Amino acid sequence: MNEVKQSLESAPKCALPLLSAPTTRGKLDFSCLTLLEALMVAGRAATICVGARMRVPSQMRAFGVDRKVSTASRKPKVSVRAQGTSDTTSVAVLGAGAAGLTAAYFAAAHGAKRVVVYERTSEAGKKILMSGGARCNVLPVSARVEDFVTESTPRKLKNIMASWNVERCREWLENDIGLELGIEHVTNKYFPLSNSSREVRDKLLEACLREGVEVRYGASVEGLRPVSDGAGGEAWSLRMRDSPDEQVSVVILAMGGMSFPAVGTDGTGYVIARRDLEHNLAEPYPALVPLTGKHPGGEQLPGVSVNVSLQCEPISGGTKAGKKKKAKANREGFLFTHRGFSGPAILDLSHEVVRTLVRTKGGSKREDVEQSAADVVEAAMPSLVVSWSGESRVEWQERLAAPPGKALVATRLRDGLPQRLADALLAEAGVDDDCKVADLRKVDRLKLLDVLTKYRIPVKGHQGYRKAEVTGGGVPLDEINFQTMESLKSPGVYFCGEVCDVFGRIGGFNFLWAWTSGRLAGMSAAKPLSENQ
Ligand SMILES: Cc1cc2nc3c(=O)[nH]c(=O)nc-3n(C[C@H](O)[C@H](O)[C@H](O)COP(=O)(O)OP(=O)(O)OC[C@H]3O[C@@H](n4cnc5c(N)ncnc54)[C@H](O)[C@@H]3O)c2cc1C
Repeated sequence: MNEVKQSLESAPKCALPLLSAPTTRGKLDFSCLTLLEALMVAGRAATICVGARMRVPSQMRAFGVDRKVSTASRKPKVSVRAQGTSDTTSVAVLGAGAAGLTAAYFAAAHGAKRVVVYERTSEAGKKILMSGGARCNVLPVSARVEDFVTESTPRKLKNIMASWNVERCREWLENDIGLELGIEHVTNKYFPLSNSSREVRDKLLEACLREGVEVRYGASVEGLRPVSDGAGGEAWSLRMRDSPDEQVSVVILAMGGMSFPAVGTDGTGYVIARRDLEHNLAEPYPALVPLTGKHPGGEQLPGVSVNVSLQCEPISGGTKAGKKKKAKANREGFLFTHRGFSGPAILDLSHEVVRTLVRTKGGSKREDVEQSAADVVEAAMPSLVVSWSGESRVEWQERLAAPPGKALVATRLRDGLPQRLADALLAEAGVDDDCKVADLRKVDRLKLLDVLTKYRIPVKGHQGYRKAEVTGGGVPLDEINFQTMESLKSPGVYFCGEVCDVFGRIGGFNFLWAWTSGRLAGMSAAKPLSENQ
């Protein structure tokens, strides 16, 4: 333990300040991965038929660099077959993101005879790769239901989350997936010790392949239709974009949301849920998204960051508004950007404003453009109110009134805030930068105190799905069996991940949701199949 601590402490500053309990597993050098993969594939010597062509898979295909079938397994599960056929013992997982891969892993590990992941892009887990600044914050250290946002009944979410917990999930990632994790103590987040999101994606994919999961790339599923399995039972027909329909027994829909559409997530999952599966949707909206608007004092402050206390004041005058609790992000990072505001404090509360904006201005039709608050009646908008240093009004009052009177007010502000922000706030309050403490008029002092401790962020809009880390809204948990993740509207279809009406705040909560809901969906989807085998 001490060795790990020492080596981490002596690591260069750019490396993660991690402290990790050593895992029970031996270390697997990541550079060996492709070799290992190749050996696994060669060992199984499976021949895969894609359309009319027979090919021998390679480790390259296993990592998704072409659009053909890739597979590797220790178990002789995969039969040689062509596209466009029917397989009534298979689990089809739609989407190879964090949730889909987890669902596939658990479905295979729990006895499903054949598990096929359909991924529309040429690569699995693209969002894992880009997550956490390419370091992948895989988990929080602990989680409560309050760390998540859903418009569904909170009890449903609580029940699903209770099916696993952070500790068991960490054990799974370490012992079964083979990741060594450490805690970043400043933020209470788990990262891989390698600081590599690629390692997370590759090891998760490798574990799926070990369990016999097939991953099919360039396979975009455009629709679902219930059909008869020909033996008196029910099955599902997958409508493929570029190939004949395929028939499968059960479906796990893990297509994610609409954020970062460039990596494959354009909301097809929502379309299928609504159009083909009779689900109502909590109207999707960009969440964990930077906001746009002017900086204080008419200044330009991009790059300035500060720890603030931010809270959201609910809509005034609404029926339940008086009772609604103020959402709060405590002493977290606030970042001025070229176009407005970001950082964990803003991202974590952005949904409170954006949801209203999106729904007032016509739902998700304009999801990819910056939306403006200009047309939204002010009274109908929740407000984000910031205390810049997190200090209370009384603390600032004492600081401003403290002798000597000849000290500059500007200096007092600069003592507690970054200089550029201090000067901007002074300008916002209309106080001259050469004003002395003794000369500060009461009316100006009160205005300055307001600006310092309850500044209303002038939100103009948000940066849309292109910059949103997740999508809010989605398939309501109230329309899903919380014990199995099976659709209550269309039995035989299971949901997991971001397509559901759940997202978490910054800090690993979204992956926790993906792993937890994916596991539950995978195990549940495998159950009827393994019972029938
Ligand atoms: C920049 C960024 C950083 C992030 N950092 C973190 C972090 O550090 N920690 C954290 O907890 N969360 C983080 N998140 C959020 C996290 O990445 C997501 O919550 C999580 O990846 C969602 O997983 P998912 O499997 O539900 O969806 P996705 O990862 O979006 O996967 C969905 C998959 O389905 C595929 N697909 C879509 N439609 C079809 C179709 N029609 N047919 C076939 N396949 C289809 C997509 O190509 C995609 O591969 C981050 C997100 C972003 C954008």
